Amino acid sequence: MADRPRRERLLTFLLLPAIIVGVFVLAGVMFRSSFQLEKLREQSVVEATLLLANEKADRLDKRIIEQDNAVRSVLDPTDRETFGAKWLEIAAIQTPTVRAVLLVDLSSPARDVLAVASRAPGIENERFRRLLVHSMLSDMKLGGSPPGELRHLHKTYRGQSYLLSHWELDHESRRLLVVVWHDVPRIVHDLFPQLYADAQDAQQSRVNVVDGDGRIVFGPPLSRGGLTLGRQFETTLYKWTLNVTMTSAEELAVAVARRRVLEMVLVALSGIVVIAGIIVIVVAAERERKLSNLKSDFVANVSHELKTPLSLVRMFGELLESGRADTPEKRRQYLQIIVSESERLAALIENVLDFAKVERGKAAYDFSESSLPDVVGRAVEACRVRAEREGVALELEVKGDIPNALLDERAIEIAVINLVDNALKYAPDGKRVAISVARTARQLEVRVTDEGPGIPNDDKKRIFERFFRGKSATQKRVRGSGIGLALVKHIAEAHGGSTWVDDAAPRGSSFAFTVGLARVLPSELEKSA
Ligand code: ADP
Repeated sequence: MADRPRRERLLTFLLLPAIIVGVFVLAGVMFRSSFQLEKLREQSVVEATLLLANEKADRLDKRIIEQDNAVRSVLDPTDRETFGAKWLEIAAIQTPTVRAVLLVDLSSPARDVLAVASRAPGIENERFRRLLVHSMLSDMKLGGSPPGELRHLHKTYRGQSYLLSHWELDHESRRLLVVVWHDVPRIVHDLFPQLYADAQDAQQSRVNVVDGDGRIVFGPPLSRGGLTLGRQFETTLYKWTLNVTMTSAEELAVAVARRRVLEMVLVALSGIVVIAGIIVIVVAAERERKLSNLKSDFVANVSHELKTPLSLVRMFGELLESGRADTPEKRRQYLQIIVSESERLAALIENVLDFAKVERGKAAYDFSESSLPDVVGRAVEACRVRAEREGVALELEVKGDIPNALLDERAIEIAVINLVDNALKYAPDGKRVAISVARTARQLEVRVTDEGPGIPNDDKKRIFERFFRGKSATQKRVRGSGIGLALVKHIAEAHGGSTWVDDAAPRGSSFAFTVGLARVLPSELEKSA
């Protein structure tokens, strides 16, 4: 049996770290899975962004190639006179970004331009023609591709970006080249907004286009976070890159950061709650254990307290019965012992019963208008015989006019008897116990002062707790049950007062309990004022 509390305590000490570790593991798992979930979500956003970037880049390639094909379908490269005439008819509608179409003779050493069809004739065309012959043709990697194959050249010449679509063809044993000159500024100003700035797209994504040096050609600057994806135009404007940011991805990043903070706070809070809960349980269990020890001591003490006077009563009763008390003097002495011991027994039983009522919350007080000095006086008289027998003088002093108050007379008597009984028990060497009744500013005060050893400071805080027995009791083996002062406290509080202990000078302790002035009838207050 003695091992049980130790085993329980061991269990608690093992359980406590186990639970704390458990909470942290749980928090870790929660974090990890939420992190993985975020990663997954992020991945799916990245995939969606990539898909969108591909689709958007392809859109431009498709538009340019569609125009190239439109040009190709109406062009007649065999007839220089009419070359491009048909195209010019459809140019404005079907090929809005094509500025001019040229026919080059690749077989001639000078690579002559055989025909030019331009939507806007002017000096620009001449400049372009020269640029084509001197620079662009050599960049086109000609001769290697099969006839008819559509190819593109995207390059910057003299600070200006050019896009050319071109294909070769054989005619009358000559190799010809058709060059379609796309107007890049027009692509940027007309086609990009058409392709990338539609309202529906803008809600879920933002797009820009940057050139080979990273300068923005079209669109707003985009954040460089992991969720902005770039994709080069594969076929046409292949020197440029299209960047896409999903607006939902930006929102996601903000939401993730916010949720992470929230999760951290929640995990920390639940950790605190769990740990606080454990501490409360451990403290409560410890308190319960101590109380249960005190209760066992109480049962043992009370049984002993009951047994001692009972055996005395029985012993002196038997002496009287057997006629061994031969003188009337002795008989009176024996009878006196029997009476005082049975009084002690009755007082103890009364204490225990009252205390049991208090414990069960059933202590019912019966208040009536009474005089506090009278009630205290009666209690002192009840103790006087015993005090005299022990050579102690009980001195009662009533200081000034004490107004009548609503009191439970029996309860007040029990409180005073308990205090005087303690004074006699714990101060056996004292010569006097002073009892006083006084009125202070807000209370009526009853005080019992002895010349005993006083109360050690450690004990002062606890002596009013039920079942608690102080050093003065346990060290000197003074009889008692540890419920007297708890009862006094309850009685004082029931009378709107309180109880405490002071050190007495030069030695001893001075116990006081009070009755609140609220218990004093208003008429009485006026009288005593
Ligand atoms: P009990 O006297 O039965 O032990 P109480 O509740 O009356 O229980 O008192 C609680 C403790 O307070 C006592 O055990 C004792 O240590 C201490 N005590 C009470 N009155 C005095 C006193 N007059 N002088 C010294 N110690 C006292």
